[in-house]
Amino acid sequence: MKYLFSAWETVKDQISAKAMLLFFDFDGTLAPIAASPQKAHLPQETLELLKSLSQEKLCRIAIVSGRALTDVKQKIGIESLVYIGNHGLEIEGPEIRHSVTISDAYLKTLQAVKVELQAVINSYKGAFIEDKGLTLSVHFRLVDIEGIIELRNKARAIVLPYSMKNMIKVRSGKMVLEIRPPVLWDKGKAALWLIEKWRPVVKDDAAIALYCGDDATDEDAFRVLADKGITIVVGAHDGSAAQYFLNTQDEVNDLLSNIVQLRKSLS
Ligand SMILES: [Mg+2]
Repeated sequence: MKYLFSAWETVKDQISAKAMLLFFDFDGTLAPIAASPQKAHLPQETLELLKSLSQEKLCRIAIVSGRALTDVKQKIGIESLVYIGNHGLEIEGPEIRHSVTISDAYLKTLQAVKVELQAVINSYKGAFIEDKGLTLSVHFRLVDIEGIIELRNKARAIVLPYSMKNMIKVRSGKMVLEIRPPVLWDKGKAALWLIEKWRPVVKDDAAIALYCGDDATDEDAFRVLADKGITIVVGAHDGSAAQYFLNTQDEVNDLLSNIVQLRKSLS
């Protein structure tokens, strides 16, 4: 895997293609990782760059997040973007709306799992559950080091019987345990779905896709987009399926500003 800016000459040609379909994860990609989800915010410079890019006629931008759709939409607030929430389960943007059908049985299970998890989490300072309606995130970031491993094991023991029966799907992310519906849908499938919607709109079947993310759930997108464009992982990248990496979250601004300049020089 190559450092993105070392391969820039190659990437630059792709970014200069007619139409571009851009996907950015939120936490740890566009926004620095914060102590809690509420505290995370989009830096002003990033907001300006996204706004500027969203005005390019042949660019389409989607924000892909594990957060609930309404939450991530509110964190960014640019009306013309497409927002993909809950790891792809909810998609909404100008003239685009899609939600994956979720059974009532699953939603009941999810609440039962939440109650069980809450009982364990209560004895770990800093741990909390983020209820995102269709999914849950158990956050460990603020728990002390010894507590993290212990709590992670306890949480896994709670969810295991449910996932064995395929009632839920469980995924480990950065300092987080994600509980999702047992459907074959993820950030990768959502990105592919959106690309199919977008291509006729930009009138370019060869429109290039760019996906930038930092977490385990972004790997689903890196895998399916490998032959469709540019995939970039932010930060630790051992075993990642992405083609390129950036060292730190703040380099995402450099990427955005390079794309903005390139696109402006084309138009
Ligand atoms: Mg992330």
